[in-house]
Amino acid sequence: MLAARDRIAGIAARTPLRRSAALSAVTGGDVHLKLETCQPTGSFKLRGAANKLLTLGPQQRARGVVAMSSGNHGRAVAHVGRELGTAVTICISDRVPGVKRRAMADLGADVVVGGPDLDDADALARRMVAEQGRTWVSPFDDPAVIAGQGTIGLEILDDLPDAAEVLVPLSGGGLISGVALALKARSPAVRVVGVSQDRGPAMYESLRAGRIVPVDEEDTLADALAGGLGEENSHTMAMVAELVDDIVLVSEAEIAAAMAWAHSTEDLVVEGGGVVGIAALLAGRVRPATPAVIVVSGRNVDPATLAAIVAGRHPAGPSA
Ligand SMILES: *Cc1c(COP(=O)(O)O)cnc(C)c1O
Repeated sequence: MLAARDRIAGIAARTPLRRSAALSAVTGGDVHLKLETCQPTGSFKLRGAANKLLTLGPQQRARGVVAMSSGNHGRAVAHVGRELGTAVTICISDRVPGVKRRAMADLGADVVVGGPDLDDADALARRMVAEQGRTWVSPFDDPAVIAGQGTIGLEILDDLPDAAEVLVPLSGGGLISGVALALKARSPAVRVVGVSQDRGPAMYESLRAGRIVPVDEEDTLADALAGGLGEENSHTMAMVAELVDDIVLVSEAEIAAAMAWAHSTEDLVVEGGGVVGIAALLAGRVRPATPAVIVVSGRNVDPATLAAIVAGRHPAGPSA
């Protein structure tokens, strides 16, 4: 993971850890926000994508890479691909928001719609890998991707060595696996809690069942957290089972309220998937030990969606 930190330094940003006076007042102890919203592509996914592409050999880079994405991973892979001169194809579903599609295309990636669900995009991507000899860049289930995301944990401990609890958005689990690994290697007592949306929380359901459970993909404000674990999982499910202390779920109304709150109180643009840690705290679903850190994982929300939420006009919003 230390190697990953050095490797990605020229591409991914070292992000700020900012104390939140308002959230500290809510909990009675210090709460800090780890602002992955400050990454050049607007989400932490740049770390894992950079680490993965930088560990590929020259032949693999020359043949190009393929990824499946709900948006942020694709944008990150496209960004790194352009930096390194590697051709990038991103398979997406119909649900991917326009702001995310355009960002990938603007970075020069080939964006292909596989069908209505991310499972369809996944199947298309794997076919392209098999037929064209290109390299698959997993959004979460790959040691190089996990190590890249884990550099967030190293930065948290550098800035706040006595962090007692860290709240992390959770979907496929690459982010939380890397962060938990980095934190617990240096600070075994720290609690790591995952936060998912209650509409189709794939890792939560799969761990409860003890096997990969296909989830019905539903529309959610946390579009970055949507989708299943795929057909097989080699790393993150076992890592989350071993390293994560608890998983809590938040509702659409709680996500909307937290997005509006972050905008008005913290002056932050945060997408639904990025705000779930704040949502869990504001809704009283967690009582973190302090000092606590909330990973704020991304900012890529359609402006019209955010405006509707801030104005209380969004269907998921509390006052609509
Ligand atoms: C991908 C993503 C997550 C979840 O990361 P996983 O590694 O899939 O658990 C959280 N927030 C944002 C903004 C993301 O793009």
